[in-house]
Amino acid sequence: MSHRILLLGAPGAGKGTQSAKLADEYDVEHVTTGDALRANKDMETEYGTPRSFMEAGELVPDPVVNEIVKAALADADGFVLDGYPRNLDQAEYLSEITDLDAVIFLDVDEEVLVDRLTGRRVCDDCGANFHVDFQPPEEAGVCDECGGELIQRDDDTEETARERLEVFYENTEPVIDHFRDEGDLVEVDGEATPDEVFERIRDVLDE
Ligand code: AMP
Repeated sequence: MSHRILLLGAPGAGKGTQSAKLADEYDVEHVTTGDALRANKDMETEYGTPRSFMEAGELVPDPVVNEIVKAALADADGFVLDGYPRNLDQAEYLSEITDLDAVIFLDVDEEVLVDRLTGRRVCDDCGANFHVDFQPPEEAGVCDECGGELIQRDDDTEETARERLEVFYENTEPVIDHFRDEGDLVEVDGEATPDEVFERIRDVLDE
């Protein structure tokens, strides 16, 4: 069976961590608009560069993001899509360019999300994720995977994290409601260790 998996959830719900595990397990492409945009923060578009939107915690304009997703999905046989769609117009666009086999929503309480985001550290070289309290690296500031430097994302400060959550509740929750109404959504409790959450997702996909 091909796997075309959509992983939905708020910032900090664990989409990136779980997507990386899923891509590995099912040998599919990890398509993430957040990483693609971070790699192209200063790309000139008719709306300006992605950087200004991202640093404010706002959504990058749909045409820019839609283009990224279209190109990435065209090259992928199976995929796990993470960070997109973030509003109903993006969801509509996605339905025009591909079919999905599974839509999973990682459910995590808001205050847990804030703690996860503000304590998150990412490897500047390989992108691996850590958390100062919940998943500390063996040596502070150093990536366990590759020895790279761990940094805090510009948008993981408390103020910007809260703004991103506002944007999520306003723009992306309707997307979740949409898939729920269509009967396609499977909800997974995301408040557990990464390995436990992964087991839950795998159970859903292997059903
Ligand atoms: P993420 O890594 O998924 O938390 O995304 C980081 C930032 O990239 C977001 O706060 C947005 O500014 C931008 N971004 C990522 N995905 C999208 C999307 N699908 N639509 C609009 N902006 C996005």
